[in-house]
Amino acid sequence: MYIKNILLENFRNYEKEQIDLNKNINIIYGNNAQGKTNIIESIFLCAYGKSFRAKKDRELIKFEQDSARVEIKYKKIDREGSIKAEIKDKKTFYLNGIKQNKISDIIGKINIVIFTPDDIEIIKDGPQRRRRFLDMMISSLRPNYIHLLNNYNNIIHQKNEYLKLNNINRDYLSILNDEIAKLSVEIYLLRRKFLSDINVFIGKIYYEIMGMSGLKIRYISNIDYFEDKKEMVDKYREKLEKYLEKEILYKISLIGPHRDDFIFVLNDKNIALYGSQGQLRSVILALKLSEIELFKKSSNDDPILLLDDI
Ligand code: ATP
Ligand code: MG
Repeated sequence: MYIKNILLENFRNYEKEQIDLNKNINIIYGNNAQGKTNIIESIFLCAYGKSFRAKKDRELIKFEQDSARVEIKYKKIDREGSIKAEIKDKKTFYLNGIKQNKISDIIGKINIVIFTPDDIEIIKDGPQRRRRFLDMMISSLRPNYIHLLNNYNNIIHQKNEYLKLNNINRDYLSILNDEIAKLSVEIYLLRRKFLSDINVFIGKIYYEIMGMSGLKIRYISNIDYFEDKKEMVDKYREKLEKYLEKEILYKISLIGPHRDDFIFVLNDKNIALYGSQGQLRSVILALKLSEIELFKKSSNDDPILLLDDI
């Protein structure tokens, strides 16, 4: 797929700007602080419903203004479309001119793979950053995933709020845990599938870049895998039960997909601990190139590759 055109209004440093792009390679160049990354950010916003660097949407609105707009027209192998984002007090998205109720409804329409100088943090930062990466990737390949994740996060939030109270009803926690076990296993299975799909490519690609074999991603989760899904849910449900008293004591849910992580291993050694700078960069490159392969496989179309300061 490719982007035909971007319209920016009061977005970051742009007052009003129309950018026409061509089907192949587009190079945006200029001095520092001119708004190159801002353009990439506007594409990302329409692909994922949020920025990859702003903490608050407000930051996206041009100084002294009260609303911003971005519209992206794209062409896919079999159809054309547009996504528009309007940022005011709240954020609204339009798909082909029709207002969408949920942000998740636009995710996955524009398929992008992005490389930025900060990506190396995926390896070096804490697990939260890796989960965010994982969740974004899966949601752009499987639009339903985001609903699943939202349901899970809501119920964990509910449980954590409940755990803060003084008089705990264990039966109520047990009902929450029944639901949590089911959702956790669904999330686990999708994450596991995604990472194993990435593993099909990443080792080979890394070998092509670095001439070293043995790169893999290892998924770290509290959930144990069994062939039978029902058995998985039951076993995990038992595990949740074992943690119940400890969770009441610590007043927080201690295990589950919200604590998942993954590491990159090169011949069984964690690359975050032993890799050189060049190796870490190449791992990220191999990861992103693997993402491209997955997109191609799932949609028969090429994703858009965004390279910032590469
Ligand atoms: P570099 O080559 O240094 O990475 P860049 O061209 O990628 O630069 P951007 O990060 O896209 O630069 O843009 C930064 C510019 O946008 C800065 O001058 C910054 O002050 C401006 N800017 C950021 N947010 C806003 C905003 N909300 N309103 C107005 N200007 C903004
Ligand atoms: Mg920049």
